[in-house]
Amino acid sequence: MKKGIAAAPGTGVGRAAILQQRVVPHICAGADPVVPGTLDNELERFRRGRAVAVEYYRSLVERVRTSAGEEEAEIFEGHLEILTGEDLEEAVEEAIGTRHVAAEAAIRAFAVETAREFEELDSEYFRQRAGDIRDIGDRLAEAVYFGSIADSETLAEESVVVAEELTPSATARLDTDRVVAIATEKGGRTSHAAILARALSIPCVTGVEGLVRSVRNGQWLVVDGDAGTVETDVDPDRDRELLKRLAERRQAERDRAEQRRAWSREHEARTADGTSVSLAANVSGTTEAALARELGVHGSGLVRSEFFFMRFSDFPAVEQQVAEYREICRILAPHPVVIRLLDCGADKPLPYARQKQEDNPFLGERGIRLLMNRPEQLRAQVEAISRVAQEGYAIKLMVPMVVTPEEVLAVRDLVTYRDLPVGMMVETPASVLALDRFTETGIVDFVSIGSNDLVQYVMAVDRGNAAVAHLSEELHPAVLAAIAQVVRLAHGAGIPVGVCGDMASRPDTALALLALGVDSLSAGISAVPEVKAAISVVTTRELQELGEVLRTAPDAATARAATAVLADKCPAPWEQEVQ
Ligand code: PEP
Ligand code: MG
Repeated sequence: MKKGIAAAPGTGVGRAAILQQRVVPHICAGADPVVPGTLDNELERFRRGRAVAVEYYRSLVERVRTSAGEEEAEIFEGHLEILTGEDLEEAVEEAIGTRHVAAEAAIRAFAVETAREFEELDSEYFRQRAGDIRDIGDRLAEAVYFGSIADSETLAEESVVVAEELTPSATARLDTDRVVAIATEKGGRTSHAAILARALSIPCVTGVEGLVRSVRNGQWLVVDGDAGTVETDVDPDRDRELLKRLAERRQAERDRAEQRRAWSREHEARTADGTSVSLAANVSGTTEAALARELGVHGSGLVRSEFFFMRFSDFPAVEQQVAEYREICRILAPHPVVIRLLDCGADKPLPYARQKQEDNPFLGERGIRLLMNRPEQLRAQVEAISRVAQEGYAIKLMVPMVVTPEEVLAVRDLVTYRDLPVGMMVETPASVLALDRFTETGIVDFVSIGSNDLVQYVMAVDRGNAAVAHLSEELHPAVLAAIAQVVRLAHGAGIPVGVCGDMASRPDTALALLALGVDSLSAGISAVPEVKAAISVVTTRELQELGEVLRTAPDAATARAATAVLADKCPAPWEQEVQ
């Protein structure tokens, strides 16, 4: 039995499918010349890699033809043509032969250059093809460097996905009908793969040391996402009884989840003494928006638009974005929907954004910083949101990772519909300490605390690093003081404060937030029923008293104990109503 971090609840039993995520080191054209005398070797590496890639694409074409159809298969046939075409071969051989660059760099240079030419043609069709070319370049470089291409697209039924680390885009691409659980070596409770796993209702354990090395593909595993354990010693013949019990447990979990959803649908978020609380849901697209609507929520306080971007092989056009945002708003109407501007970088790399490697990605080109460096993408997204607002939907725009008013002003300058509310996430110490520079100057209409990052930056604890996860304490006096200060400054200027980080997704911390005076919560969809239930049994008076304790609590333990008293009052009202 291996111990990790309980990242998404539920039990999953199945066979291990080890996903290898491989990054070809950044080898720059021109910057890393091959040593003279090894040119032939470099040419040979290219040819061998290409043969591997051709083989890979051939089998992909066959697989896609059977699973998805002829039209989809043609896309990959097109990839094969590029791969075997003379253009690629000549460009790469010339770069190796005359500029003496490594094969990977020559391939990348060809892919980047060709993609750029396509983009300049200013047609939607070629823009999509540009993304394809980059993708082919990446896969070919992988084949050259590793001698093979890792394939995460084909999973057997009932797979337990095992990986050193899962990026959000890899998680989003998983075939959820086949994945019964996820177990990873890296990552914490608020790493993005964990957030997605919870939204997709896939049991998940992160931070399991030495997992990949100790597991074989196809080996039976039991993942307990509540206890945070992975059982590796499972023999289906010997443990027949155990597996039967686990199957029953899984069925019971599913039934309970359905009860919770039904209860949530039928009850408003209201305290025991009748005060209505604005409880929204975090969503990453239209599917989750539809699930959220079924839970009876007040719209979405956070649409992580980057997950929509991750479905494309290049930046989606304005029209594509308009269609997505409009549909989310339509599903959740008449409630408001907060679209957060693209927040990629750090643990949410967007492959086609092609960011440079960074020593400290969480302190690097993330969120609005990345968009400021790509003005045309910033303009496109703000325009798409403005258009949906103009159509009369209750949409709002939110800026992530803000540290200076200039970042918000740059966004505001691009808004083309005057009545679109613009807000900012408060997730950096700079935005907490200097919040009055935003609130007093009228540049934001609302603020929303991103507690995942705020805790990470206040506590100096990487949110994806299991070794320091125990220090990631949301009820630490420093975090509580930061939240209290945000509420004080924002309310002083008449600006509402929401919370869309994971603190709003657990009953105890959600109550702590209300006690500190935040106006609205946006929780992960799987957490909505529990949070609603916790709200329904407390009174405003009890929340006020809790607020006093939290503002002066000497340590996290004191804050936790006081919060638990309220959160434990009525853990599962749906069970009582069923009996
Ligand atoms: C946060 O940081 O709390 C937040 C909501 O944003 P994300 O988790 O996507 O970084
Ligand atoms: Mg964040």
